[in-house]
Amino acid sequence: MIGTGYVGLVTGTCLADIGHRIICIDIDKEKIAKLGKGKCTIYEPGLEKIIRKNLKNKRLLFSTDLEKAVKESEVIFIAVGTPQDKDGSADLQYVKKVAEDIAKNIGNKDKGRIIVIKSTVPIGTSDEIEKIISEKYKGTFFVASNPEFLREGTAIYDFMRPDRIIIGTKDKKAKEIMNAIYKKLKCEIVSTDNKSAELIKYASNTFLAVKISFINEIANLCDQCGATIKDVSAGMGLDKRIGKQFLHAGCGYGGSCFPKDVKALIYIGKKFGQELKIAKAAEEVNEKQKIILVEKAEKELGNLSNKTIALLGLAFKPNTDDIREASSLEIIKQLLIKGVKIKAYDPIAEENVKKIYPKIEFYNSAYESLKNADIMFLVTEWDEFKKLDFKKIRKIMKNPIIFDGRNVYDGKKLRALGFKYFGIGVN
Ligand code: NAD
Repeated sequence: MIGTGYVGLVTGTCLADIGHRIICIDIDKEKIAKLGKGKCTIYEPGLEKIIRKNLKNKRLLFSTDLEKAVKESEVIFIAVGTPQDKDGSADLQYVKKVAEDIAKNIGNKDKGRIIVIKSTVPIGTSDEIEKIISEKYKGTFFVASNPEFLREGTAIYDFMRPDRIIIGTKDKKAKEIMNAIYKKLKCEIVSTDNKSAELIKYASNTFLAVKISFINEIANLCDQCGATIKDVSAGMGLDKRIGKQFLHAGCGYGGSCFPKDVKALIYIGKKFGQELKIAKAAEEVNEKQKIILVEKAEKELGNLSNKTIALLGLAFKPNTDDIREASSLEIIKQLLIKGVKIKAYDPIAEENVKKIYPKIEFYNSAYESLKNADIMFLVTEWDEFKKLDFKKIRKIMKNPIIFDGRNVYDGKKLRALGFKYFGIGVN
């Protein structure tokens, strides 16, 4: 497993747990040293325990020695990052570098290794990787596309109980071996060509982003016309053709995947002369939605300068410390421009936000951040925020005004306690 970040570490560890022998490789020496001692390097509930178990039974190994790992492995997964480049496309420099390293180190010409691309990569990347490797290595090898769908926070569950596994390859033997690797997981395997496998990943993420932006627009319409988004979502979601998931209105999506994958798909469309209007619209709606709480607060209270806002939740979603493309970052940016004093709290993502905004005030609990605040912004729906004592909060806030960016609270109950409550599409 080359690349021991979020995907590589979870996939490598879980593959070891279902019986394979895995060597996880990374260029980050500190990361590898920590993992070798059984210390997990990402926040993922339950993962450390599985790492330790498989280190102990020697099915899992962490190393920086790519050469040795490539020589010893029958199947080589590439799970390095494919971050967004300046023009919106996926930056493939890390994937290509790994392909070159593999080509240099394969060694034994007779083995017929399988190179599996787990990273999210643009259509045609498998062919490029095949070309890069075959320029240096003249033996037999196969390239398979096996995109990953795990969600941060529920990554182990997602690996062990996937909705589907996608395997794209033109070679029969590679298909058989890939099927055997995942044999223990009970789910449908979609076998296809490499390009389709690559597109399935981008199309799936973009479709989900579209669904979120769609319901957010409908919620904004609810705000204008007096309908209630929760009822609208429930009524829509019962239709099996639509489905209940991803119909939860809120202050926008973020994270390391949706924003970058939507952008990359738009770029891929452009490259092939196919404009992807719906993907573009989803992105545009999301950019506005991220700061909807700021707009709502201004509409209600006018000028926000000199106000104190308690910001609850910084991570892009609960159960992770990941703040990439999080709505909180855009909200902080806007509030600082407007001269607002921010009192922020997140159960675990504080350190990451501190690196970007070292000067805002961070607190150790929701109550501390709410003390003497004029306004509360709920940005990430951590469980602990759902259980807050609002009678207590009513006493400690300067002004009892709540803008709920994830529609987690019951507006009627809060209003009965004396709060002014504003959700998204909730009247
Ligand atoms: P990450 O940034 O967490 O990890 C990438 C790792 O690769 C890092 O540890 C880095 O040090 C290592 N690396 C870079 N160059 C290397 C090299 N030459 N040799 C060895 N290691 C090297 O990234 P991630 O979140 O794990 O994402 C990996 C891929 O999976 C991306 O394409 C991403 O889009 C996709 N993906 C991510 C998620 C997610 O939730 N994070 C879900 C599905 C798919």
